Amino acid sequence: MTVVTRFAPSPTGRLHVGNIRTALHNWLLARRNAGKFLLRIDDTDAARSREEHVVAIRADLAWLGLHPDAEERQSARFAVYQSAMDRLIAAGRVYRCYETQAELDLRRKVLLSRGLPPIYDRAALALTEADHAARAAAGDAPHWRFLLDHDTPIAWDDAIRGAQHFDSRQMSDPVVRRADGSWLYMLPSVIDDIDMGVTDVLRGEDHVSNTATQVQMFTALGAPVPKFAHAALLTGAEGKLSKRLGALGMADLREAGIEPEAIVALLARLGTADPVDATLDAGQLAAAFDLSRFGRAPARFDDAELERISAGVIHRLAFARVADRLPAGMDQATWLAIRPNLTRVAEAADWWQVIKGPITAPDCDAETREFLTAAAALAATLDWAADPWTALTTALKETTGRKGKMLFMPLRQALTGLDHGPDMKALLPLIGRDEALARLQR
Ligand code: GLU
Repeated sequence: MTVVTRFAPSPTGRLHVGNIRTALHNWLLARRNAGKFLLRIDDTDAARSREEHVVAIRADLAWLGLHPDAEERQSARFAVYQSAMDRLIAAGRVYRCYETQAELDLRRKVLLSRGLPPIYDRAALALTEADHAARAAAGDAPHWRFLLDHDTPIAWDDAIRGAQHFDSRQMSDPVVRRADGSWLYMLPSVIDDIDMGVTDVLRGEDHVSNTATQVQMFTALGAPVPKFAHAALLTGAEGKLSKRLGALGMADLREAGIEPEAIVALLARLGTADPVDATLDAGQLAAAFDLSRFGRAPARFDDAELERISAGVIHRLAFARVADRLPAGMDQATWLAIRPNLTRVAEAADWWQVIKGPITAPDCDAETREFLTAAAALAATLDWAADPWTALTTALKETTGRKGKMLFMPLRQALTGLDHGPDMKALLPLIGRDEALARLQR
């Protein structure tokens, strides 16, 4: 059987690290099994869903390389939901209710004050057809609840959490459709998972209690129950994912200069004991992806770790992959020379400025000036096609007796205006003979 997974965001906001992690897990599991990864837009809530978010979700997934094999939209499937609903009505598995929110709140309060669980009392089940007719005549539209089966224990073997058991008597029959005809998330999701052949549902542990209900919906619709896995949620360094990068959308991370490979490498392993390895590409991460590696404890997302991994990714990025993000004219040799010094690709522009000039050289004393004049004279005689930096420093060492920092630092400062930066051996040929001589003579 082909493994089919899905990522089902509601287009009510941006994708952040938490939902991207869910998307990635689903993508990895599908790839690992040569299966299919679906993008399902959960836009049943017309009031809160926005087309701009749908567009952003697609763009974010594409940026991360998580290309879906197909895209579905819940708003295009209302007729399908209606026909499944009709079957559930005929089977007596959904029923009409009329309680207002205020009435329900009051009943909850009463139950809680008696120390009882605030479970819906199924009062509406006692209504007769005559009662419903009277309600209809009065213009009251019903909302619909799914009738949980109290006789069948709810259990599944969660691929991350292990054996799960729920007592349906401790659960309220969930509302599946509002009085205005709009659908709540719960039932359409199950209908879609059945229709789309979803074999594995991977999502965050905030959905565990939904799963308990949905397991019964699959059965009520005569379908096999898919495999479920619920990942522990992410927490930030401060306990909440509210700080900095963890709370940002993918577009912000992209703007902050974080590389997508770093996000993929980190989120593929976060929550497992396996080391994050940014040298692995997405295919290798998929090959090694194993839900049983995930622990049940919340995983800590650390901004600094993401930044570190991102820098590591940049230090290995091939020129062809990055060329269109570099300053015009920057060639492969320059990229390879400066890449180890970058934490963001955008910083390439700073080094391009250092190479092309103009630069501001720091002031220096008379002795240093003398040294630099000697360096300029020597540099003029060198073979610039070979390795001018080694030739220059070797010769200067002999003629001036300087070594170490005394030798290298004045040269670096005069040639780049800075006291740190890329390897001068790579940088000097890029600055070029004429410009280098001018900088030394200044
Ligand atoms: N739209 C739901 C959400 O974003 C989907 C949950 C699910 O994976 O079934 O939470």
